Amino acid sequence: MTGPNPKPNYASSCNACRQCTPLGACLAFKGFEGAVPFLHGSQGCATYIRRYLISHFREPIDIASSSFSEDSAIFGGERNFRTGIGNLTKQYHPKVIGIATTCLSETIGDDVPAFLKRIQKDVSGDLEDQPRLVHVSTPSYTGSHIDGFHDAVRATVATFARSDCPATNRVVLFPGMISTEDLRSLKHDVKAFGLHGILAPDYSETMDGPAWEDYHRIAPGGTPLTELELLPGARAAIDFTHVVEDKHLAGAWLRDNANTPRHILPAPIGVTATDRWLDLLSSLSGQEVPEAYSDARGRLIDALVDGHKYLSRVPVAVYGEADHALGMTAYLSELGMDIRLVATGGRTPGFEDAVGRILPETEHVRILNGVDFRDIEAAVEACKPTLLVGNSKGYTLSRRLELPMVRTGFPIHDRFGGQRFLHLGYAGAQRLLDTLVNTLLTHKQDTSTTGWTYL
Ligand code: SF4
Repeated sequence: MTGPNPKPNYASSCNACRQCTPLGACLAFKGFEGAVPFLHGSQGCATYIRRYLISHFREPIDIASSSFSEDSAIFGGERNFRTGIGNLTKQYHPKVIGIATTCLSETIGDDVPAFLKRIQKDVSGDLEDQPRLVHVSTPSYTGSHIDGFHDAVRATVATFARSDCPATNRVVLFPGMISTEDLRSLKHDVKAFGLHGILAPDYSETMDGPAWEDYHRIAPGGTPLTELELLPGARAAIDFTHVVEDKHLAGAWLRDNANTPRHILPAPIGVTATDRWLDLLSSLSGQEVPEAYSDARGRLIDALVDGHKYLSRVPVAVYGEADHALGMTAYLSELGMDIRLVATGGRTPGFEDAVGRILPETEHVRILNGVDFRDIEAAVEACKPTLLVGNSKGYTLSRRLELPMVRTGFPIHDRFGGQRFLHLGYAGAQRLLDTLVNTLLTHKQDTSTTGWTYL
């Protein structure tokens, strides 16, 4: 394993390998029933986040804003905040307003919790008609979209959790920021074991739903609010992560505040992680793993044997959001690939140790934590992989260095259907395997001086 990252000789980020913190919070809020995200700050932040999410999910996304002007930046944004919350309530009738702060409102020190107290006091007469307000502090200079995502989920759970909640047989999943197809796959798994599963958040419909006959101002779907109230009584809460600290996790909040039994495991990317996930479902339900899963596992192992000759010892570089990069690293290592670089953009405590736990030998693996694509490109040039695995933001690097690339995770802006790429479970591992092999074959075929049509 290499030592700490060498100190860069520049102060700015160049082509960041992370997104802004409120972006993650906005996506998380989109996964709760009747919720509309609201950004306290300038309108440009809401526009950037909307554009970014739309180009990945290909769905219309409304994000309200308190639209700071010069005087709000100097004298504080409470007046704009109150007007914005009032307009949003009147026009959209949301059940929840998920409030995230931008860099500007955090920098001037707006006291949003105090604003909320004053608003709630003013509307106490007709509380029934008012949306629930959930606030999360998301200065982008101290975190990444992943911090915003987890913090928003935790804040929402803490807001809705009933203190007098009865014990229930629910199993609540906190999956982190995964694709809409991955969300559907987790729901399918829980159901296959006969368990009552609740996903929080669940944007599988709000961000990837069927075509509508009539326009809805707020997309149907999301974790039902009545279910959120009952989470403290769940028989199990599961935080899916390799590396996120408990202080950001909703399952840890339920454990610490309601004694809910909490389990922690990585998202099921690859064979071993999927085995672990299904073993947990088996122990929670008291049921054997259903035959359909054993069959899918058998087919996957057969395909791994077939694909081994194309992937074994192929040098590869992995980058992206920490949990996703770690999950992919674990799977690529199972495939026998030669992992030369694992990089993440958000500065993530424990990232290096997590790579060390996944890879038995890390002496020749370059690990970069809290870097941008300028750092990643320099490391890729030095460690010479023949394949890149990560999100679309690595495309410029892949083009410049003429390296084939497999797109995974978020964002996927330059391919169709990125929001519904499946990564999880045996089916996700099968899809990734086929994509990895075919990407290498395509590159070899395209760069060959002699044409060939047969493998
Ligand atoms: S100013 Fe901050 S909150 Fe706004 S878009 Fe940029 S990083 Fe995100």
